[in-house]
Amino acid sequence: MIEIENKTKCSGCHACANACPKNCISMTSDEEGFWYPQVDKSKCIDCGLCEKICPIIHKWQPDNSRTTTAMAAINTNEEIRLKSSSGGLFTLIAENIIDQGGVVFGAAFTDDFKSVRHICVDNIADLDKLRGSKYVQSKIGDTYKQAKEYLDSGRKVLFTGTPCQLGGLYSYLRKPYENLFTQDIICHGVPSPMVWERYVDFREKKSASSTQRMFFRHKKYGWKTFAVLFEFSNNSAYVKRLHEDAYMRAFLSNSCLRPSCYACSFKSMKRQADITLADFWGIQSVLPEMDDDKGTSLVLVHSDKGRDLLAELSDKIKSRKVNTDIVEKYNPSVAKSVSVNDKREGFLKDIRNEDFEMTVAKYTKLSVYKRARRFAGRVKRKLFRILGR
Ligand SMILES: Cc1cc2nc3c(=O)[nH]c(=O)nc-3n(C[C@H](O)[C@H](O)[C@H](O)COP(=O)(O)OP(=O)(O)OC[C@H]3O[C@@H](n4cnc5c(N)ncnc54)[C@H](O)[C@@H]3O)c2cc1C
Ligand code: SF4
Ligand code: SF4
Ligand code: SF4
Repeated sequence: MIEIENKTKCSGCHACANACPKNCISMTSDEEGFWYPQVDKSKCIDCGLCEKICPIIHKWQPDNSRTTTAMAAINTNEEIRLKSSSGGLFTLIAENIIDQGGVVFGAAFTDDFKSVRHICVDNIADLDKLRGSKYVQSKIGDTYKQAKEYLDSGRKVLFTGTPCQLGGLYSYLRKPYENLFTQDIICHGVPSPMVWERYVDFREKKSASSTQRMFFRHKKYGWKTFAVLFEFSNNSAYVKRLHEDAYMRAFLSNSCLRPSCYACSFKSMKRQADITLADFWGIQSVLPEMDDDKGTSLVLVHSDKGRDLLAELSDKIKSRKVNTDIVEKYNPSVAKSVSVNDKREGFLKDIRNEDFEMTVAKYTKLSVYKRARRFAGRVKRKLFRILGR
């Protein structure tokens, strides 16, 4: 029977809860807002399946017989690319599966935008719900069970998510399926659902309204200085650049990630997924002709299934092959966990009761360099105004 003694050893993937034959595992939030399995011992028959299935207990090892290739890619449909976080490759992959009668699993906001969970989509219009990065942990719920039912019925399934969520899926399924396609991401880590809920409450209180639409990666100021955007039902809006937004500062200062993200068991250039998607950071140096600041994807292809799928999309993407050696240089999260912020504990305690922005300001001071750049920017803008330009 599963018992979590060390929280870095549970990614919250829900595989154990999906697999338990007695349905006696519930995923419950701890004080930091992360889900962990809790067993109802009165119903447990001690079959051991939950431990057998856990992808962290049985540490996944990369399959060295597979060859990974890398490319820079852009969806040539600019409207979709601008609505996507990077180059819009996810939408093309998902449309391909739906066009063949398949279904797509991925992360979507709940109706009130206060949390994120995995859902299943079977039509192109609903892909809008999955499009775009949501920087908060997505709840898997019973989607592994749903995916298995579709797979057993012979329908094509594309399952997308973080590497640990795909690790959970493969462990749960316990056998290969020809009709299963998977796409993961290079993953910095996932912030606490509790912190996200507190932030939505904070923004809604400030605007005295409820959230109608939310984007983590709005491209108003370009892809590289991406903006956080909230639109509210009273027609007001909030838009801030990455480093000016309190939530994104908490996320990127590693103050509110899941404990398992600081010791991630799934970091590797080689993956279980068929395809890995990421932002092609550094594209302006590597392939300047593929950079228009509207979003370029880094695509890692790990399997023949992934290669065949991408070949079918060749007339819808602009792409260039790159050497896999450069990936880690520009995107270290592919193979290395981030370090824990030593103020994390204090931050996660205070954020529960104190003012959101003040708590973030207290725990994540801007670096001297960033302050100097901001100050220089302000001076420049003032000078331009004075000179009338
Ligand atoms: C938590 C998180 C951390 C990331 N860290 C990095 C990083 O360090 N470096 C990097 O280059 N890229 C990172 N990415 C990936 C990047 O932000 C883009 O999602 C990716 O490049 C795909 O972009 P796209 O334009 O093809 O598609 P989009 O339409 O922008 O992406 C949609 C896809 O993202 C999935 N998704 C969205 N939110 C979540 C979530 N909360 N959990 C699981 N899946 C989700 C959807 O299911 C769908 O598959 C991260 C994404 C997330 C969600
Ligand atoms: S040991 Fe078996 S019955 Fe008990 S919680 Fe684990 S899977 Fe469920
Ligand atoms: S990592 Fe997944 S399978 Fe393992 S204990 Fe945590 S939720 Fe269960
Ligand atoms: S960093 Fe690792 S453990 Fe954390 S969400 Fe990403 S894949 Fe999962």
